[in-house]
Amino acid sequence: MHNSANCPICRGFPVGNSFSDKEFSAFVDACRNELETKQEIFQKRIAGCDRWLYDLADNSLTLGTLRFRITAVGTFSPEYETWLWAWANPDYPATAREASRRIQSLYSITGFRVFTAEGIEATSADAQDFSAMAIHQLDSIGLFKSPSDGPTLYLAVHEP
Ligand SMILES: [Zn+2]
Repeated sequence: MHNSANCPICRGFPVGNSFSDKEFSAFVDACRNELETKQEIFQKRIAGCDRWLYDLADNSLTLGTLRFRITAVGTFSPEYETWLWAWANPDYPATAREASRRIQSLYSITGFRVFTAEGIEATSADAQDFSAMAIHQLDSIGLFKSPSDGPTLYLAVHEP
């Protein structure tokens, strides 16, 4: 799990539940930039993988012949403009919800209630930012969005 004391991004922020709005937005920026870098590497690695399959029961993602561990972050509904954290999703298996619950530690770091609120109004940019912060906190290597007709599922990807 993430060690904020050794993290080049987190180290600059106050410890324990006390970010100001300005600090929070700087934290989001840093996580966004970090994800951009991670994503470039991850995309290269999975380039050409046209078949994908995720399994929330065992937290795995198969892309072509590559297999990764995942943490479900949440779902964004473009129709309703809402975000639902995976830990709050009654449709998901306990394995996925338990893994996702670790993202709530962002509340103890930032003090922002968005990380403990079950469902919230959100734009797709918010969904991307929530995922960037989750990926930072979980030390994940990238983001995988599962295409669908309904809500989009955001998955934090880990090394196998
Ligand atoms: Zn950090």
